[in-house]
Amino acid sequence: MSAAFRALARFWRSSYNSSAFWAWAAPAESEIYNVRMQDLIRKLLAELHEDPNREGLRDTPKRVEKALKFLTSGYTADIDSVLNNALFTVDYSEMVIVKDIDFYSLCEHHLLPFFGKCHIAYIPSTKVIGLSKIPRLVDVFSRRLQVQERLTNEIADTISAKIAPLGVAVVIEATHLCMSMRGVEKQNSFAVTSAMLGAFRDNARTRMEFLELIKLRSAVPGLAAREWSVATEACVAEQD
Ligand code: ZN
Repeated sequence: MSAAFRALARFWRSSYNSSAFWAWAAPAESEIYNVRMQDLIRKLLAELHEDPNREGLRDTPKRVEKALKFLTSGYTADIDSVLNNALFTVDYSEMVIVKDIDFYSLCEHHLLPFFGKCHIAYIPSTKVIGLSKIPRLVDVFSRRLQVQERLTNEIADTISAKIAPLGVAVVIEATHLCMSMRGVEKQNSFAVTSAMLGAFRDNARTRMEFLELIKLRSAVPGLAAREWSVATEACVAEQD
C-alpha cells in the first residue's frame, strides 16, 4: 500500500469519526435535528436521575425533539395558507356547526397534554369556511403551548376575523393530564370553556340552540356552576 493511499485512508477514518464531517456530509440531518435542543433534553434526563446513555434512552432526545416540534408546529403555521381557497361566498344564514373535533394540546404551565373535543358554530353573513378546514384551524392553535381559555378564544376570534359572521360559538371540553396525573383531586373531571361572539352572545335562543345541538347545556355560565368551578381548577388558571 502506498504512503499516499495510507494517508488518504487515515484522513477518511478521522473524518468519518468527527461530527464536523457528518454535519457536512448530511446537511439534511443537521437541519432537521437541533443538536442544542437534544443536549438540553439529555441534561434534563440526567437531572431526573436518569442515565441518558443507557440503551433505551440513547435516541430519546432525538425523538422528544421531533415530538415537541410537531406538537408546537402551530407557531409557524400560516392561517391564510391553511384556509387557502376555502372561503366561499354564499347566500346562506343558518347556523353552521362542526362538532366533536378532536384536539391535542400542551398546557403552558406544566408542558403536559390536555385534550378533548372542540365544538364550533357560526352564522354566516356572506362567507363560509370549507368544512374540512375547520379542524385544521383548531390544529393551528392547539399545536402550541396553551391554556384552554385562550385556545377557545383564539379559534373564535380567527373565524370572526376571517369571514365576519353574524356570530361565532366555540366550546371546548378537555381533560388535563396535569390534573389527572399529578394526584390532584377530581381525576376524572374535565374543564369546559366557551367563547360566544355576536349573535351567540346577544341572543339566548341562538346560544341555546347551539348548546342543545351539541348537548352541552352546562356550558352556559350560571346554568351549571359545578363544571365551571372544575374549569377554574384545571390548568386554565393554575400556577403551581
Ligand atoms: Zn397544566
